[in-house]
Amino acid sequence: MYKTPLEEFMENNPIHKKRIALDMDEVMADVVPKFLDFYERDFGVRPPREEWWGKKIYQLPNAAHIRGYLQEEGFFADLPVMEGSQEVVKWLAEHYDVFAVTAATEFRNSLRDKLDWLDQHFPFIGWQRLVLCGDKRIIQADYMIDDHAWNLEHFKGKGLLFTASHNTEEERFTRVDDWTAVRAFFEKELENGRQSA
Ligand SMILES: [Mg+2]
Repeated sequence: MYKTPLEEFMENNPIHKKRIALDMDEVMADVVPKFLDFYERDFGVRPPREEWWGKKIYQLPNAAHIRGYLQEEGFFADLPVMEGSQEVVKWLAEHYDVFAVTAATEFRNSLRDKLDWLDQHFPFIGWQRLVLCGDKRIIQADYMIDDHAWNLEHFKGKGLLFTASHNTEEERFTRVDDWTAVRAFFEKELENGRQSA
């Protein structure tokens, strides 16, 4: 009997591990250099870190239009991978069911770019476990790693706030500064799980 690729995938990959929902932008993909490039193109000067740390680049004076570039085809296609993320996500995927969950539908041209980007840099996650969504309150998982507090506020599992320029003041969530910290957090989780098993 004919089975679709998704049907086959689901049969071969029953959900039996804990589930992690991983955000893409500013967690797996680094959008900041691109925003800085656009800023520099439009204003003739690259803003120093102390000017934008604590906010988004497009929250700088007169820079609100820069957010509009997210609508352009190709914006998400060539973003650099966040340092250390590939190795750590690969390791996480051995112990957890890892999904990439990205609030993408506001940007219709990002959908194909994000699918291709994930396929290129995180092929072991695959299209089967890429969730292109808007409101993340629909997401059910055991852990969520995200740079936006509003995505963690309503999350029923354990939320980890990935440090980004715009969330430095946020104190309600367990913070991870980089992928080394993510790995350290989950090493502890696995160790605790073994002890209580
Ligand atoms: Mg994000």
